[in-house]
Amino acid sequence: MKVSVIGSGYVGSVTAACFAEVGHEVICVDIDRKKTEQINAGIPPIYEEGLGELLQKYAGKKLIAITDYELAVKETEISFICVGTPSADDGTIDLSIVRAAAASIGKALAKKDAYHVVVVKSTVVPETTEKFVLPILEETSGKKAGKDFGVAMNPEFLREGKAVQDFMNPDKIVVGAIDKRSGDLVSELYRTFECEVTRTGPATAEMIKYANNSLLATKISFANEIGNICKKMGIDTYEVMEAVGKDFRVSPKFLNSGAGFGGSCFPKDVKALIGKAKTIGYSPVLLESVIAVNEKQPLLMTEILQRKIGNPADKKIAVLGLAFKNETDDIRESRSIPVIAELLRLGAKVSAYDPMAAENMKRIFPSIEYCDNASDALKDADACLVMTEWDEFRDLDSEFQNMKEKIIIDGRRIIKAKNIDYEGLCW
Ligand code: NAD
Repeated sequence: MKVSVIGSGYVGSVTAACFAEVGHEVICVDIDRKKTEQINAGIPPIYEEGLGELLQKYAGKKLIAITDYELAVKETEISFICVGTPSADDGTIDLSIVRAAAASIGKALAKKDAYHVVVVKSTVVPETTEKFVLPILEETSGKKAGKDFGVAMNPEFLREGKAVQDFMNPDKIVVGAIDKRSGDLVSELYRTFECEVTRTGPATAEMIKYANNSLLATKISFANEIGNICKKMGIDTYEVMEAVGKDFRVSPKFLNSGAGFGGSCFPKDVKALIGKAKTIGYSPVLLESVIAVNEKQPLLMTEILQRKIGNPADKKIAVLGLAFKNETDDIRESRSIPVIAELLRLGAKVSAYDPMAAENMKRIFPSIEYCDNASDALKDADACLVMTEWDEFRDLDSEFQNMKEKIIIDGRRIIKAKNIDYEGLCW
């Protein structure tokens, strides 16, 4: 089939490359010309394991990237909207990018005679596809949904860092469509996948994504709260959660206590669902607590630091790990951001190291010291805060010996070194 993918970020570039891998012809559309040039040259616009190989294989052949909506819509049968849906200042969802993408597709649809399906893959709050995107498409195209074009919602559940693997081996595919014809065409795209397609209406598909992410975020904040209580009582929360996770109703995933969740999805999606719930007159106390625990958690790192070294003003504090999790260069909502902000507020000098995410973090904190390796960041430091569970941090040992004070506060339970003054966030 012929597919256009609107937006070439984490979700769009992976969706495009994976659709090419299963045999479809793909046109990527992005307003950022540099990204389209990178994709056409076989260079991934973001880091994602396996993405480079797929782009090398298909770029310029079954996969091309352009900035021209009209051509992309004309040449394909289905368009996937994969643009960002950030949080607005009040935490609710900001749909301005979705609005722009939908309007551009609509204008292109106005010039196309054949039937076309528009699929929302961006994470959007329930009712957005039918009550927001569909009317924009009708207005800008002058056509009728359900007759001249189809509309569907197909949420994405991939994990950053393992996005290609997750896209190719999904444990669920959800297609929520306004009618059978739209749903059939989108499901047909996934024909070669072993996973069954769950067919729903658009609002249900939208809510499945939010319920999914909110439950995972809840597990993390729950584990962190238990971890905070355990620490005060001298109980090892990891021992507790390992046993709890053996219950098949719970599962051992997302029960590691630590500095909290970040990334482009969990914080923003839980906040968006809170915002949506409030607009319909419901007070989501559980979800609000999930966010409250998550916001408090990283600041416990600097509280421990102050207890151990006193005022960190003018002291050198090494921060290991900037990405919101390992195996990604993504720093969005990374828990290291509030930690570095607090260190700077307290007057500390920050030296930071991350295997992949330093370039991205420079945009937020241009003036801290970025090091090429952990050893340089740790040299002469008065303390070290570990914020991301990068595998290479497990092997750190002699590097700590070059610190002025060998004080290590671990937010991810990853440090194994001996002969250091070690304290875990919740253990
Ligand atoms: P992103 O910011 O990495 O990528 C968005 C892309 O859209 C960028 O390349 C940008 O240049 C492009 N863009 C912006 N305006 C455009 C326009 N008018 N027309 C065409 N392109 C435009 O975002 P992302 O992380 O890929 O997320 C996209 C959506 O998928 C969001 O709703 C997100 O919540 C959801 N999602 C993300 C993940 C994830 O792990 N990142 C997982 C599941 C779902």
